[in-house]
Amino acid sequence: MTRALSVLGCTGSIGRQSIAAAEHLGLPVVALTAQRKIDLVEEQARRLHPKYVAIYDENAAKQLRIALADTDIRIGSGMEGLIEAATLEEADCVVTAVSGSVGLRPTLAAIDAKKRIALANKETLVCAGEIVMPRAELTGAEIIPVDSEHSAIFQCLMGRKKGELKKILLTGSGGPFRGRCRSELENVTPEEAVRHPNWSMGAKISVDSATMMNKGLEFIEAMHLFGVSPDDIEVVVHPQSVIHSMVELVDGTVIAQLGVPDMGLPIQLAMTYPERVDSPFRRLSFSEMRDLTFEAPDFEKTPCLKLAMDCAREGGTAPCIMSAANEVAVALFLGHRLGYNQIYDCAAQAVESIEIVKSPTLDEILAADEAARAFVREHFA
Ligand code: MG
Repeated sequence: MTRALSVLGCTGSIGRQSIAAAEHLGLPVVALTAQRKIDLVEEQARRLHPKYVAIYDENAAKQLRIALADTDIRIGSGMEGLIEAATLEEADCVVTAVSGSVGLRPTLAAIDAKKRIALANKETLVCAGEIVMPRAELTGAEIIPVDSEHSAIFQCLMGRKKGELKKILLTGSGGPFRGRCRSELENVTPEEAVRHPNWSMGAKISVDSATMMNKGLEFIEAMHLFGVSPDDIEVVVHPQSVIHSMVELVDGTVIAQLGVPDMGLPIQLAMTYPERVDSPFRRLSFSEMRDLTFEAPDFEKTPCLKLAMDCAREGGTAPCIMSAANEVAVALFLGHRLGYNQIYDCAAQAVESIEIVKSPTLDEILAADEAARAFVREHFA
């Protein structure tokens, strides 16, 4: 079980729930990082007494240094600060809850420092799964997924031998616009897109859930985490979000993991694994449960999912380009500067226009990420 935590992305939804889980479990939080919300970070730091806090934004870091001048908490900044928080000697589990590809280098640094990674940053595996997974194998760093679907698959595979897995059944609710076609979604607002029927999440991932890009990113994430090919993963739309994913074994048996849709559960398990301990969350009630329904995804209506699956097959820098373009597009959409349907256009055109590098190095991945962002800013902003 984990003894001390470093939480990268402490002001986001997963970061805050990770801190709550640590407090419930009585685990010290020794490092925190955030992009710039220093009011919340100050409050967290005064409550948790971490050794180290890093703020990505240099100016915000300066302000926090002044605000916490009466404490002995060290304050760092920039990518260097994130990496220091990810590798702090006192931490043995690093929660990577930052949003976007900024999580890539700190995660790799934590792997090299043999930390347990409670992985909540999809982009790390989407962009660099081919580098991250072998590196973790080499150093022996454990990667425990926090994403509910991947946690479910991880739980279904506990105690199984590698050769017993036939296929992964990756479930998704279909988001708030399930069944609607492109022409009906032309005028969707950010406020409508972030209103997820089952899960309460940050704005970026909520928009990704609406477009089903999130399921696409999870598809790629699952490939790397569990070492399977795209043909061995099937996406299943399951609107009630009670089953969080399933695995089919070679003999045809299907194992599912069920629970209330609360990220607190996979977060706690990532910290306590291989132990399970009591949790404060609501329990599943089978007497209150109504139908559990399933359907195949409609790729015509979810082009982002189709694009992600195509990029998964293409490999190389294709998933990274798609993900980075999507990240910028979603930020523009949330700022009312881009239409909802154009999110797909940004990602698809970036993949189409930017040269894809096979078996990329980390530098080539970071360059592809930057090229995709520049492409969207130039053509869509
Ligand atoms: Mg998920």
